[in-house]
Amino acid sequence: MHGRGGQGAVTASRIIATAAYEEGKYSQAIPMYGTERRGAPLTAYVRIDDVRVRERELVHTPGISLCFDPLLSLQQAVANDLLPNGQVLLNAPFAPDKSELAGNINIATVDATSIALETLGRPITNTAMLGAFAKATGVVKLESIEKAIKKYFPGRLGDMNIAAVRKSYEKVSPWVPAKNKVAPKMQVDLNVGGYGTLKDVSSWRVFYPVVNEEKCIGCKTCWIFCPEAALEWKANNKPAMVDRACKGCGVCANECPVKAIEMKRVEI
Ligand code: SF4
Ligand code: SF4
Repeated sequence: MHGRGGQGAVTASRIIATAAYEEGKYSQAIPMYGTERRGAPLTAYVRIDDVRVRERELVHTPGISLCFDPLLSLQQAVANDLLPNGQVLLNAPFAPDKSELAGNINIATVDATSIALETLGRPITNTAMLGAFAKATGVVKLESIEKAIKKYFPGRLGDMNIAAVRKSYEKVSPWVPAKNKVAPKMQVDLNVGGYGTLKDVSSWRVFYPVVNEEKCIGCKTCWIFCPEAALEWKANNKPAMVDRACKGCGVCANECPVKAIEMKRVEI
């Protein structure tokens, strides 16, 4: 599973493993923690079998790859090292035959970000991928996913996440063989980014800040609170986003006392 900090990929791995367990299978969820922070690419792994799983290593040649992030879904790395005829389920707002990912793989897509925004009000895409996962792969049943979600998210939050699951179950595309069989030599990396303006974290964004200069009173609150030093100061005493440094967290918009910053969705 490929996602970004804050999208719930690690929780999704646990939910799938729990759902498989509910169906009488043996399962493992293996999160890979590093120094990731919100927005940074990360991976998690699930292993499921009918017999006891003694292997404890990370999964190096998966049968299925899930990508929770629409920009990571454009990167070949999420489709590499799969078993022949492996399945790649992408969070992407386009049909699978539009994907440029290459290999002896089959691709399916679901617009999990839009589903998450509609059902949860936030771009936390994990549960909006899980219904699609159940439908497209058949590895676990929809009911088992829902049962597992109730364990992780009780009450109203559980209901909202189940709504996301059901919507993605309906909306996921069929599988399509990748049109490109050979991956291009130059690969874009997963861009682990870095702090401040030293590295490029622009590909982490689902939203980006737009300043309404008419409303802005030049108080610098956004500049003080930005965790990435991603706002620079213009000669007219207004802030401007430094493209490569902004990860789209929305802290600036939340802190602005006059609501002069609007977070706009990045178009894929
Ligand atoms: S969204 Fe705002 S606070 Fe977050 S990194 Fe970008 S400029 Fe900084
Ligand atoms: S916090 Fe809002 S009002 Fe203050 S400088 Fe930033 S955009 Fe302008």
